Amino acid sequence: MKEDFEEFRRVAHQAVDWIADYLENARRYPVLPRLKPGELMDALPGCGPEQGEPYEALLADFERVVLPAVTHWNHPGYLAYFACTGSPPAVLGEMLAAALNTNGIHWLTSPAVVELEQVTLGWLRQWLGLPAEFFGEIFDTASVSSLHALAAAREMADPEARERGARPGLILYCSEQAHSSIEKGALVLGIGRQHIRKIPVDAEFRMRADALEQAIERDRAAGLRPFCIVATAGTTSTTSVDPLEAIADIAERHDLWLHVDAAYAGAAAMLPEKRPLFRGWERAHSIVVNAHKWLFTPLDLSAFYCRRPDVLRRAFSLTPEYLRTAEDPRAINLMDYGVPLGRRFRALKFWFVLRRMGRQGIIEALRAHIGWAQELARWIDEDSRFERVAPVPFSVVCFRLRAGDEENRQLLERINRSGRFFLSHTELNGRYVLRIAIGNLGTTRQDVREAWELIQRTADEL
Ligand code: PLP
Repeated sequence: MKEDFEEFRRVAHQAVDWIADYLENARRYPVLPRLKPGELMDALPGCGPEQGEPYEALLADFERVVLPAVTHWNHPGYLAYFACTGSPPAVLGEMLAAALNTNGIHWLTSPAVVELEQVTLGWLRQWLGLPAEFFGEIFDTASVSSLHALAAAREMADPEARERGARPGLILYCSEQAHSSIEKGALVLGIGRQHIRKIPVDAEFRMRADALEQAIERDRAAGLRPFCIVATAGTTSTTSVDPLEAIADIAERHDLWLHVDAAYAGAAAMLPEKRPLFRGWERAHSIVVNAHKWLFTPLDLSAFYCRRPDVLRRAFSLTPEYLRTAEDPRAINLMDYGVPLGRRFRALKFWFVLRRMGRQGIIEALRAHIGWAQELARWIDEDSRFERVAPVPFSVVCFRLRAGDEENRQLLERINRSGRFFLSHTELNGRYVLRIAIGNLGTTRQDVREAWELIQRTADEL
C-alpha cells in the first residue's frame, strides 16, 4: 500500500492535538479503567483486516476501545507503586525516534543512537555525582540492567563460565527487601535460589551490614564462593537505603562485585540534601537508575552504569562476521556490552527531557514531591486512627489504619474504586500496608491533600 502523506500529515496533526489535550487534562479520565478482564479482547475482531483501513477508523477505535482500558499513569491521582510520568519533551523525542527507526546495533548502524546515549548518560552521571570511570548504557528496564550486573559479577568471579558453563556454589547477597528482579536475574543466570542470601534488615528496612558480613564468612567457611552483593538505594516497599558505605567496605574486603539498585531513588542523588544517603555508591561496580521511574521519561529507559566495562564486554562480546566493523576506540559497539543486539533510540527522548527541564527543573520537581510526602507523613502522624510504618526519605509514604489487614484492604479498594486516586499496598513485618508514591509531574500538593482527605473520609465510613 502506498502511503498518502497528505493524509498522514493531517491525522498526525490531529493526533498531536490529542496528545497535548491528554497530557494537559489527564485528570479528566478515571485513573483506573472500569472494565472487566477480557473486555478489550472481546471488543475487537479475532482476525486482522484483509484490506488496509483508513486512519479515521484506527483513531476512532483508539478512543472507543483502547482508551477505556487504559490505566492512566499520567493521571495526577496516580499514587501507586512508583508513580511516574512521561513529559511533553519526552513524548516529542519518542515520536521523532519512532519516525527515524534507527537501530544502534553497532556504531555505524546509528552513530546518533550510540553517541547520544553516551552524552545523556554522561550528563546524568555528573548530575548524580558519580565519577567518570562509570561507563553508561541504556537498557529497557532495571530488571535487565541488574541482570547484566549479575552476569558481569559472575564473569569477574568465574571467568571460565563463558566457555565451560557456570560453576555451582556462587553466592549472591541482597537484603530481604531487595526487588524481585535481583532474584529473577540470578534465576536466569542459573545461580539457583538456594544460593541467594536474603540478608535481614534493621527496624528501618535497611540491610544489616553485620549480618551481611557474617553470612559471607559463613559461606566462605563452608567452601562456597560469594561473588556479588546487591545493595538497594530506595527499596520498593519503603524506599529505605541500605548502608552503602559499610556495604562497599565489605565488598572491598571480600573482593566481591557490588551492584546498587537505585532504580527509583537514584534520581534523588541530584539533590545536594539527599546526596549523603548515597555516600558509598560511587565505589560500586555497577549502578542502575531508571529514568522511567522518577526522571520524567516514559517507559522505557533504564540507565545502567558500570565501572568495569571491560568485564561486561568479556561477558557479552560475541561478534558474528556480518557485524564486524573497522576498529576505532571512539566508535563504541554497544552490542558488545549486553544481550540485546537491536537498540532503539531511547536516548533522544531523555536528551529532550534533560535539556527542556534542565538540572534545576528536575531538582525542583523532585524536591516538591519529597516535600509533599513529608507533609502527608505529618498529617498521618497527627491522625491517631492511622500509623506510619516506615521513615520517608523520598516521596513514598507507608501507613495503615490501626485496624486489621482486612479493614486496610477495604480502605484501599474503596479509594481505588473512586476513579480519582490509585494507591497500592505492600506487606511489612507481616502486616498489610498502604503506600502513597508521589512522582507524577501533574500531581500537585492539592491532589495529595485531597487524597488524604478521601482516605480520612473513607476510614470514617468503614
Ligand atoms: N528495582 C527496584 C528497587 C524497583 O522498585 C523496581 C520496580 O519497581 C525494579 C527494580 C524493577 O524495575 P523495572 O520495571 O524497570 O524492571
